[in-house]
Amino acid sequence: MWGGHSCPPACPTNQVSGFGSSRIRSPRPAPFSRYNRITVSRRVYLDNNATTPVLPEVFEAMCPYFTDHFGNASSIHHHGQETRAAIERARESVAALLGSRPSEIVFTSGGTEADNLAIFGVMTPGDHVITSTIEHSAVLNACKHLADPPHRCELTIVPVDGRGLIDPADVKRALRPNTKLITIMLANNETGTLQPVEELGKIAAEADVYFHTDAVQATAKLPLDVNKIGCDLLSISGHKIHAPQGVGALYIRKGTELTPLQYGGSHERSRRAGTENVPGIVALGKAAELAQAGLKRGENHTMSDHSMSDLRDRLERELLKIEATHLNGRSNGASHASSIRAHSNEDDAPRVPNTTNICFDGIEGEALVIALDLQGLAVSTGSACSSGAIEPSHVLTAMGLSRDQAKSSIRFSLGKQNTAEDIDFALSVIPATVERLRKLSPVWSKVVTGAI
Ligand code: PLP
Repeated sequence: MWGGHSCPPACPTNQVSGFGSSRIRSPRPAPFSRYNRITVSRRVYLDNNATTPVLPEVFEAMCPYFTDHFGNASSIHHHGQETRAAIERARESVAALLGSRPSEIVFTSGGTEADNLAIFGVMTPGDHVITSTIEHSAVLNACKHLADPPHRCELTIVPVDGRGLIDPADVKRALRPNTKLITIMLANNETGTLQPVEELGKIAAEADVYFHTDAVQATAKLPLDVNKIGCDLLSISGHKIHAPQGVGALYIRKGTELTPLQYGGSHERSRRAGTENVPGIVALGKAAELAQAGLKRGENHTMSDHSMSDLRDRLERELLKIEATHLNGRSNGASHASSIRAHSNEDDAPRVPNTTNICFDGIEGEALVIALDLQGLAVSTGSACSSGAIEPSHVLTAMGLSRDQAKSSIRFSLGKQNTAEDIDFALSVIPATVERLRKLSPVWSKVVTGAI
């Protein structure tokens, strides 16, 4: 199916793992231009929490909205009505995926805008917001910004335990008379850990405060229902569910008082001004339909019909056989996440089915990412580069990992295009690369001798 569809020649069907490509060039631009000269026998992409390739069906659905159906959805003539109808169909599909009413869906430019619209939309000066240490920066930085003038809001950031789980009791204790919003993510982007959102929804409802959850990394990976979660606001992003980058949506429960971020026309029922990104919205609608069809069969499956968690678990199991490797956010057996309730077992944290995060002692994660990339395998660290220095992941350090452990950790995240052969390939290159890098590592000998 991949590569066999009838999209225009510009469609990059031969550049991503899972498309059956061979001997392709790295598409990296400068400053990675040195890589451009390197050809590899195969490219496997296991960084789907960063972004996913657009599914062929999604691409085909959106294509006509660049060319044939180009109208402005606010126009009253035929062309406008055509695109208006397409937007409303997409709204229905997204609403169906989330168990909401179509009128409660507002299209945005992505997850970051959805998070910002939710947070800045409900908070007013002097209000108190509760969030967590492991949120995506779209939430964490928005909340931190609220604490500064002119907003002068109050902020509580609750911690997580070693598994990356929030304790709902901490959230309950943090409530104040002026608490307006609890914003806690559904699935973490680095570890895949699922938070006890249904309990948080109940706490918010009892306290009569708004509950927002960033579901960007949970959407399409497990069934979601805004009423079951009990949230008032929920963010999703197109490019994490095989739609393109630059489109997303915010679910806003009917009756939620929300001030828009930007002013202009009365688009999106005056909640998000600006001419709609019709091809993107159509794509998001199609991706939502495909996701829902996939989830009806239970757990998320790949295009080649493998259970996503079976592939992830095999990768994880084999990698953990390498000496001195550790699973971050220890978890087992909870990956068939039909429920989003947190486990009570001490060792377990429920996870989305596609993600694993592993610490390779004695190795710089960045070095491992680059060494694997040179062999055709794309993975990532959660580290961020700030002022020229690599900073360890705030998520992993919040879970109690040392800076070194956090910097030695790698995230592997699968997508619908991945196959069993992709996992074979990953397993054929990772152990030898880890061994090679450890031989070069001054830290590794100290790890082996127990000096650190
Ligand atoms: N929230 C989470 C949990 C994410 O993982 C991301 C992206 O990585 C975002 C929000 C931001 O979404 P977008 O890239 O669509 O702005």
